[in-house]
Amino acid sequence: MTDSTTQTTCPYCGVGCGVVATQEGDKITVKGDKTHPANFGRLCSKGAALAETLDLEGRLLHPEIYGQVTDWETALNTTATALNDIIQKYGNSAIGFYVSGQLLTEDYYVANKLMKGYIGTANIDSNSRLCMASSVAGHKRAFGSDTVPVDYSDLEKADLIVIVGSNLAWCHPVLFQRISAARQQRNDKLKIVVIDPRRTATCDIADLHLPIKTGVDVTLFNGLLHHLRAHDHLDYRFIEQSTQGFANALQTAKETANSIPAIAQHCGVSEADIIEFYRLFARTEKVVTLYSQGVNQSSSGTDKVNSIINCHLATGRIGRVGMGPFSITGQPNAMGGREVGALANQLAAHLDFEPEHQAIVQNYWQSPTIALQAGLKAVDMFEAIEKGDIKAVWIMATNPVVSLPNAERIKTALARCELVIISDCVRNNDTVPYAHILLPAQTWGEKEGTVTNSERRISRQRAFLTAPADAKPDWWIISQVAQHMGYQYGFNYQSPADIFREYAGLSGIENNGHRDFDISILSQLSDAEYQTLTPYQWSPRSALQTTAENRPRFFADGRFYTLSGKANFVPVRPIAPKSESNSTFPLILNTGRIRDQWHTMTRTGKTPRLLSHISEPFVDIHPEDAQAFDIKDNELVCLNSALQQIIVRAKLSEGQKRGYLFSPMHWNAQFSAQARVGTLIASHTDPYSGQPEFKHTPVAVSRY
Ligand code: SF4
Repeated sequence: MTDSTTQTTCPYCGVGCGVVATQEGDKITVKGDKTHPANFGRLCSKGAALAETLDLEGRLLHPEIYGQVTDWETALNTTATALNDIIQKYGNSAIGFYVSGQLLTEDYYVANKLMKGYIGTANIDSNSRLCMASSVAGHKRAFGSDTVPVDYSDLEKADLIVIVGSNLAWCHPVLFQRISAARQQRNDKLKIVVIDPRRTATCDIADLHLPIKTGVDVTLFNGLLHHLRAHDHLDYRFIEQSTQGFANALQTAKETANSIPAIAQHCGVSEADIIEFYRLFARTEKVVTLYSQGVNQSSSGTDKVNSIINCHLATGRIGRVGMGPFSITGQPNAMGGREVGALANQLAAHLDFEPEHQAIVQNYWQSPTIALQAGLKAVDMFEAIEKGDIKAVWIMATNPVVSLPNAERIKTALARCELVIISDCVRNNDTVPYAHILLPAQTWGEKEGTVTNSERRISRQRAFLTAPADAKPDWWIISQVAQHMGYQYGFNYQSPADIFREYAGLSGIENNGHRDFDISILSQLSDAEYQTLTPYQWSPRSALQTTAENRPRFFADGRFYTLSGKANFVPVRPIAPKSESNSTFPLILNTGRIRDQWHTMTRTGKTPRLLSHISEPFVDIHPEDAQAFDIKDNELVCLNSALQQIIVRAKLSEGQKRGYLFSPMHWNAQFSAQARVGTLIASHTDPYSGQPEFKHTPVAVSRY
């Protein structure tokens, strides 16, 4: 590398691709990093356009208090005093932090430490709650730990990949590229099944597409479990030695999904396709079931996750090369947040709200207190703000007025809140107008730290730009506010390396061996070693002293992180989505991402090249539904749910299932005043994970 070349990581999705930023004079180019094990040089359209998003237009450059620009010392004092006043007046649980999968792990850790160890409440939750919380809950129920047991390389070694609820080609494009390349190289010996209500670009490489209805995954996978038993494809040795609860799960599967015609009818697909899928799964040893938001974003998302895991446990297809259940995260650092306790129901280092774990964390932090119970999850936190139970909220690097369900009510909640602090790199998103205090944060290319991708690989994000004006790293802002609140000890960090070493050390503290996350081998890194850290994939504690090449796999020994060491089968029954279609709202709206935009468009919306792919908000509708509702292709339509109305352009699409619509989640007020799809979505959540149901909203469509 020359002085003008920096190896860093793409800030968008959970694939976590390595990129190389090269600066020649004023010109910056961003290319894929050929040495990074996530992408080996590949990039998608969003990653390839990163250099076009680096201008300062729209940046928040100075601290502001009630709209007046101020200096950092005044802003820090005001923020700290206001938080302390609210704690004194209403108690510590009147404070909430809403953080983001865009934060670096070091930022996440310091925010979590301030809340849980010093302010003393666990009311800190991440927008990752919207992305993968059901997988976390499903993993913990099955494995006793939030462990992702599959690596990206397994996708290239599998003989069957079942892609459930994911338009991988658009949402995790580099993984799609890797799978497509593997399929070509292996002369189509790698089979692909896509399970998704829509016929998406991902189906272009599918041998079989099951366009199931939304919300029926448990029936489909319970039926698979029953089929595997009926056709003698179970691994009884594995079930006996490494699992518990099989009989119950099988009995539940038998009761709920024992007839192919009934399963086909319930799922809305043909019997022949169901049989073909079950046969492919049954006869193929190396199966990866890769799933994403179509599974997670549901009022029964955790049960869906466990219905998938049950099938892998029953066949012993886990902990070995080329097989396993694989949750891929949407956000670039959802996994990093999980590692350091950024969810309201976790402590740092994959520890829980149990007395022994609380003591470990508090002792390690030497903190004045420790949160005694799980805090409010994202949707509940904003309801508490609306009710007045939370009086102060600090929103970091996220735009809830667009992205949360019932998004119009988020405005009401924030308008009622006594103190809204926002730290962000942008000055003008939909949430910023509700801020009393604005704190300017550094952004990608300016800040230093680490992120963890969907295969548990920690990569460095490195700075190659000088931060403009008063923009500061998030970890610095949080640490400074903590110190100004009076918490001198515990936040005297000089660099992100200090923070990284601290949480790496916490991860290594003994806990009877019931913990998967241990990166304590990295706790002694020097500043120089942290600076040059190459991508590091964490693996079982026993692997700490081994090299990357011979590092063992999770669950390879048939041992899990439950007290018994055995994985749990979880009996799951199909549960209908919370709201069904009716005569007023006869269609079901599914939401998701498009190829060239990210989240609420505050970065990707800056580049005309990315906007040229799809330039305005739309709704996909099947031509027969369009005809039934007298809708023509390309005309503006109103979408109404029980909550709100939005106006978007109709796109007639044969890939859309009849009775179902699809509209993207990205558009914010800056790009389209009346297309915030989050305003249509009710706040129904999964009872275990708290993840909202974004994929199943009854709506009506009519000409504008
Ligand atoms: Fe970035 Fe994801 Fe695209 Fe990779 S696949 S370049 S991480 S957006």
